[in-house]
Amino acid sequence: MSNQELIELGQKYLLNTYGRLPVAMVKGQGTHLYDADGNDYLDFVGGLAVNSLGHCHPDIVKAIEEQANRLLHCSNLYWIEPQIKLAKLLVDNSCLAQVFFGNSGSEANEGAIKLARKYASLKYGQERHEIITMKQSFHGRTLAALAATGQEKFHQDFQPLPQGFTYVPFGNLEALKEALGPKTCAVMVEPIQGEGGVNVPTMDFMQEVWKLCQEKDVLLILDEVQVGMGRTGTLFAYEQFGVEPDILTLAKALGGGVAIGAFLAKEQVTAAFKPGDHGSTFGGNPLATAAGLAAVNAILQDGFLEQVKEKGLYLQNQLEKLQTKYSFIKEVRGLGLIWGMELDRPGADVVSKCMEDGLLINCTNSTVLRLLPPLIVTKEEIDVAVAIMDKALSSV
Ligand SMILES: *Cc1c(COP(=O)(O)O)cnc(C)c1O
Repeated sequence: MSNQELIELGQKYLLNTYGRLPVAMVKGQGTHLYDADGNDYLDFVGGLAVNSLGHCHPDIVKAIEEQANRLLHCSNLYWIEPQIKLAKLLVDNSCLAQVFFGNSGSEANEGAIKLARKYASLKYGQERHEIITMKQSFHGRTLAALAATGQEKFHQDFQPLPQGFTYVPFGNLEALKEALGPKTCAVMVEPIQGEGGVNVPTMDFMQEVWKLCQEKDVLLILDEVQVGMGRTGTLFAYEQFGVEPDILTLAKALGGGVAIGAFLAKEQVTAAFKPGDHGSTFGGNPLATAAGLAAVNAILQDGFLEQVKEKGLYLQNQLEKLQTKYSFIKEVRGLGLIWGMELDRPGADVVSKCMEDGLLINCTNSTVLRLLPPLIVTKEEIDVAVAIMDKALSSV
């Protein structure tokens, strides 16, 4: 079927929840995607930070094939081998002690919220249930994750949302200190806000938040659904800021393209959950965790993360050159291989023009061009992408 035929069917049969671009992707290889008409795109969206190892990475394909031939699903009534192995790998490479697996970022955050509340409730009573999150944050689309999301535009029309969430401006320590009281059980932060416009906090802010949380025995939940798994140049983004979360949430790149989510917690926190407190039918299923195991092992290979840092600095440099050329580029910000370019005008036209020339980028928060290339991108591909962006920017 052609792009046009697929789009017509999709418009008829799918709920109209996404502002989709007019192409249907049917194949991927490495950093490239191909649409139904055979057009070739350099992919700097990377499935919104899911396809960090590119498309059809041989290790992931092999792991999925082997696991599909062995055992696709098995209930959490029993122990599951790849689930245990992936949990061990994550724990061995983080400051956290144990893992719970779900299927998405929202589900990971829902679990983190429940765990934080149970921990505080056991220790201080149910009054202590409030969670402070940041304005411009994004934590997912399910109701509690939506309530945690500090953006009014996502809340409209879905009231009433679960109670107990308050919001402070990202980066404003004084506002956080003021909001934090005896009812606060956790502070939830994205180490870099992805959907909110690639907003990078200062190291100082993150460290002060951590210190404050430790002083008050308030749990620090870091949502690394988008920026975890090597995106910033370290396996976890918290390493970049010299802080340690009490609870860490992961999803997007964790399964190498297969749906998976997880939250990890420190030892004193994990003890709050007992059998029956939480669960998920598909959570940690053999297929997703086998793929995750292959993905995490690939990210942990010698020199891989070093290359992410190096290529990230190179991309930053090229983007800053564009900024000196075009006065309507207000700011370039990011870390590793997540970059945002804030314009003084909407970015949708730039996205469309880039796509016409074979480059996929994304625009978030209407004016921020966001780049999330696969971590396997080459410098040559970065040059190609920047040249296409240059041309698109020159025409708006
Ligand atoms: C994408 C995202 C989520 C939601 O993940 P889903 O898998 O879509 O539920 C949550 N938090 C952050 C930071 C995200 O980027």
